[in-house]
Amino acid sequence: MGAFDYQKGELYCERLKVKEIIAAVGTPCYLYSHRALVENYQAFNEAFTCTKHLVCYAVKTNANLTILRTLANLGAGADIVSAGELYLALTAGFKPEKIVFAGVGKTGDEIYDALKNDILMFNVESLPELDLISSVAKKVKKRARISFRVNPDINPQTHHHISTGLAQNKFGININFAAEAYERASLDKFLEVVGVQVHIGSQITTVEPFVEAVEKVFRLLKTLKELALELKYIDLGGGLGITYNDEKPPTPQDLAQALSPLIRKSPYHFIFEPGRYIAGTAGILVTKILYLKETQVKKFVIVDAGMNDLSRPVMYDAYHEIKPVRESGQNEMLVDIVGPICESGDYFAKNRRLPLVEQGDLLAIFNAGAYGFSMSSNYNARPRACEVVVSKNQYYIVRDRETFGDLVSNERLLDIK
Ligand SMILES: *Cc1c(COP(=O)(O)O)cnc(C)c1O
Repeated sequence: MGAFDYQKGELYCERLKVKEIIAAVGTPCYLYSHRALVENYQAFNEAFTCTKHLVCYAVKTNANLTILRTLANLGAGADIVSAGELYLALTAGFKPEKIVFAGVGKTGDEIYDALKNDILMFNVESLPELDLISSVAKKVKKRARISFRVNPDINPQTHHHISTGLAQNKFGININFAAEAYERASLDKFLEVVGVQVHIGSQITTVEPFVEAVEKVFRLLKTLKELALELKYIDLGGGLGITYNDEKPPTPQDLAQALSPLIRKSPYHFIFEPGRYIAGTAGILVTKILYLKETQVKKFVIVDAGMNDLSRPVMYDAYHEIKPVRESGQNEMLVDIVGPICESGDYFAKNRRLPLVEQGDLLAIFNAGAYGFSMSSNYNARPRACEVVVSKNQYYIVRDRETFGDLVSNERLLDIK
């Protein structure tokens, strides 16, 4: 049985009825399966036993502290993109020596924090950033471990908002000029050049772009060797896709197999940064139907979650499977499933077939564990949803639903004359 399955027409998360959890915690609610999270991590980690490796979970995917703690306890590292995420990762219990730091806009303060905490390495995205890391390292009298994020100019065949390894993207250093960057870094006594990183995009559903990227990285390594530059780490980023609709992405096993000629028995230490693969299928967003509304041309199902809770549909044209929490027969209605927010982009599905549903029914939006809550906002002054983790026959509220007080907690109400 999967983490989210129907038994006698009732949706379960592990061994609990979703309906019963929701009766206690309300909607909208993010519900995560602890078991799915663990299994996804283990599937990824075990696929790469053919080589020395570390799985650094991409914190931005889902940064709930309990989820982070679960992964840290399994031995995972963390891929962070800000000092805020460094704080979350350390708070949750990730070891600094398993933390890698990416991002095109690291500030001096962020670099300082990461250096002070002795993280594994910075994935450097530009030469000005390299200079700043060096000067901060000099100030704190440390050598900063760095790798360059290289941009291999590869089309990962995914949505253009989540392609990151094309020449026109802002990420990384053009792989054709990377050797010069490495030479420059290797002459700097406040820097220790330890690796190379590549991350070409997200929700990638074939192995070819990964293979192509790794081949290009190995060509770079050969060039570097000729310059007497030896690296220790090859960080292959994240990006492995999941099934939202009818995609058939490779499994971690398939990916490992495809990369195996390059990475098996390699002297390098490999790092992977999966996010979506680990958290995506481990979560659902549960929402309640507020109204059924029919116009001359459309039927709308209006629910109590909005694009502030889950913005993937409007941001990435993303598809999410949506089903009633209580199964109610054949698909008979053709509807748009929309939220309460004053934006036409506030939808979860368009022209979707649903079984007959009624006001008050619960809907489950599947595969919402990645880039769901972590991208949520308070738009329209909507308190953010609660987050609940289920393990076997127990549920735990791991983040309370926000209150109206939370909405204004950082404000100062002034009468300015
Ligand atoms: C977003 C991101 C990831 C995770 O990507 P997924 O597609 O969720 O696996 C990994 N590394 C970097 C640098 C990222 O920006």
